[in-house]
Amino acid sequence: MPPKLAQILETLEELYGPQKLAGPTDPYEMIVFLNCGYPASDGKCAKGFEVLKSEIGTEPNKLLAASKPKLAKLMGPSVIAPAVCANRLKEIAREVKNEFSGDLTAALEKRLREGKDQPEKGLQAAKKLLQGFPVIGEPSAEKILLFAKLAPVAAVPSAFVEVPTRLFAGEPGRNYATDYRAAREVLDSGLPKTFEARQRAYLLLKKHGQEICKRSTPKCEICPLTAQCAYLQAKAADSNAD
Ligand code: SF4
Repeated sequence: MPPKLAQILETLEELYGPQKLAGPTDPYEMIVFLNCGYPASDGKCAKGFEVLKSEIGTEPNKLLAASKPKLAKLMGPSVIAPAVCANRLKEIAREVKNEFSGDLTAALEKRLREGKDQPEKGLQAAKKLLQGFPVIGEPSAEKILLFAKLAPVAAVPSAFVEVPTRLFAGEPGRNYATDYRAAREVLDSGLPKTFEARQRAYLLLKKHGQEICKRSTPKCEICPLTAQCAYLQAKAADSNAD
């Protein structure tokens, strides 16, 4: 690992301690979890998911057997459009049951295996499958593959892309997709290709975005990474030039 990246992750781990993913790590349940809160946050998704689990269950057959009004009522406290959410949960359950015989993990493994000689092709096929589900974009698809231990993708926490962008490139750009891909490239080239290393980096960068390197107003005055941060160094250079 490049010394700068290793040092940043060590500093963040000293500050926040080891981090754990909020929510399940099974691909199907991760999709359900991500649909249980809107606007999405760990807290809202966990709240909706736990109610769903205890009142109905999350298995495809249970979601399909539940009435839409009941699903909508249960999701009411965690989403702003409960009826839409109920429809989406049924759509997810129907697709997994009918298209993938109830086993989404096996379907993803098959896509990845089919690309054995061309790993990038297999990875794209698995991501495409996941992105067919409601609210799953490329960042969520990569997160699912990483935390379900299906492919050690250098996923970037989708709501905190600014953190690696500021640390390694400087000012976040105007285009989210470009920033996301640039951040993923930095992590991909710098981190060992192991699930452990990439999950650790994902969770520590996310925590830093939640606590200090906030999207609109990063709290640089209390950040322990000022010496390594490209964004802060560029700002200091600008003010020196003035
Ligand atoms: S110094 Fe500021 S911009 Fe850089 S990582 Fe810390 S909080 Fe974020």
